[in-house]
Amino acid sequence: MTSISPSMVSQDDLNAAFKRLKGISQQHAFPTVQVRTQLLDSLLKAIKQHEDALLSALQKDFGHRALAESRLVELVPLVGEIKHAQKKLHQWMRPSRRKVHISTWPASAKVMYQPKGVIGVISPWNYPVLLCLGPLVGAIAAGNRAMLKVSEFCPETNKILRVIVEQSLGDKWVSFMEGDVDVANGFSQLPFDHLLFTGSTSVGRIIMRNAAEHLTPVTLELGGKSPLLVAPSANLEDTAKKLVFGKSMNTGQTCVAPDYVLCQSAQKVDLIRYIKQELARYYPDGILSEDYTSVINERQLARLKGYVDEATKAGVACENLMPQGPIESEGKLAFQVLHQPDDTLGVMQEEIFGPLLPILTYSDMSEALAYIQQRPRPLSMYLFTQDAQDQTRCEQQTVSGSLVINHTLIQVAQADLPFGGVGASGMGAYHAEEGFRTFSHSKSLLRKRGPNMLALLRPPYRRGIHALVAKYWPFL
Ligand code: NAD
Repeated sequence: MTSISPSMVSQDDLNAAFKRLKGISQQHAFPTVQVRTQLLDSLLKAIKQHEDALLSALQKDFGHRALAESRLVELVPLVGEIKHAQKKLHQWMRPSRRKVHISTWPASAKVMYQPKGVIGVISPWNYPVLLCLGPLVGAIAAGNRAMLKVSEFCPETNKILRVIVEQSLGDKWVSFMEGDVDVANGFSQLPFDHLLFTGSTSVGRIIMRNAAEHLTPVTLELGGKSPLLVAPSANLEDTAKKLVFGKSMNTGQTCVAPDYVLCQSAQKVDLIRYIKQELARYYPDGILSEDYTSVINERQLARLKGYVDEATKAGVACENLMPQGPIESEGKLAFQVLHQPDDTLGVMQEEIFGPLLPILTYSDMSEALAYIQQRPRPLSMYLFTQDAQDQTRCEQQTVSGSLVINHTLIQVAQADLPFGGVGASGMGAYHAEEGFRTFSHSKSLLRKRGPNMLALLRPPYRRGIHALVAKYWPFL
């Protein structure tokens, strides 16, 4: 297993690991469906075997994170994805038959799905298990070797991930790398056959520039500001429940967490009241509740508090919605609403990625949809409505990675739905069949048999034949 200690990873190590996997992928270029299924199976078994260690490592890395929450958000979707891939792999790998033009008859045509080779995966800290092993599932299902670069902010989780990957797949399939920005930068400059990056939009730009050097195709799974639009017909109590579910999970440190709310002024008081009620049910002791997750580190905490300070100084009212307890304690920060912050403030310029919730008001749906349309395309959009027309307008007029009606976050756990952003929130997708296609090369295969009709069309061009061609062929 190529498992090099984080502090010691050099560019030579990265190059050597890549070269080795590339060599193996060239020697064993097309693993059978049985081999791939077996690899996925052993990955699944290793995850199960190390489940407890993984959950407690996550807890250590976050300072505090409920075991149940980690299981729910990291392992449930991951296991679902592995099982779905195992079930569908045979079907996904089947070549797709295509038509042959009459001029080429007799012949057969198809598209085969070939492993691309060596896939690079760079993952962030917020869901360090799911976002490292999830892309790996797609890469392995498509028959590739993979190099993983995990986040430097989750050292405890990385130790267990390394064991899982080492035990289940081994060094013929995977190389596991830890390291800081320098390692990540060098990693993204390797001539991968495909590179999947999950992280911030700003780093996504660097990754794409690095990948351009080798024309490495990239999938960018980025972040951004995912709006939650409360339509006039929305059931406010239901909206608040699902909003709290989506925003409090991992304390809002979720790429698809609702970033801000758009509602009508007449809805605002009730909506906030219901949010408070739901938070009191979730966290009766406020941020001191066992199940409330910490912000991952000091830097992130300072960033979030900076947004609140800046907004407060600008005259924005910030309201703590927790039922009781302090606003901050041991890396935990209370769920707070910011009333109508303007666009110049950090909290509206940047992805929040924490327990702060700006609430903006709109007068009619056209205004709300225009607000969303005029901003960078989000990773997710949430619409709460009872009105089919609102839904259709939203489907057609907004562009986002995913659109969820009357819930939040649940799109991520759908093994049969692709996941990815658009515009500033990313490009390309994985999960489901789309993941398999992302990591496969769709190669056109054309096999010619029998007589060669095209031989009639070579110089010297005979008049009769070409008159016939001119008349009919373009339209056949
Ligand atoms: P980040 O962009 O800071 O880091 C992500 C990874 O990139 C890490 O492994 C890091 O080591 C590496 N990296 C950092 N700087 C780099 C550089 N200059 N060159 C090359 N690699 C570099 O992101 P983060 O703080 O770990 O995660 C939070 C961000 O990730 C948020 O914006 C969130 O929305 C996004 N995210 C997106 C998804 C998604 O699926 N779309 C999922 C989770 C998180």
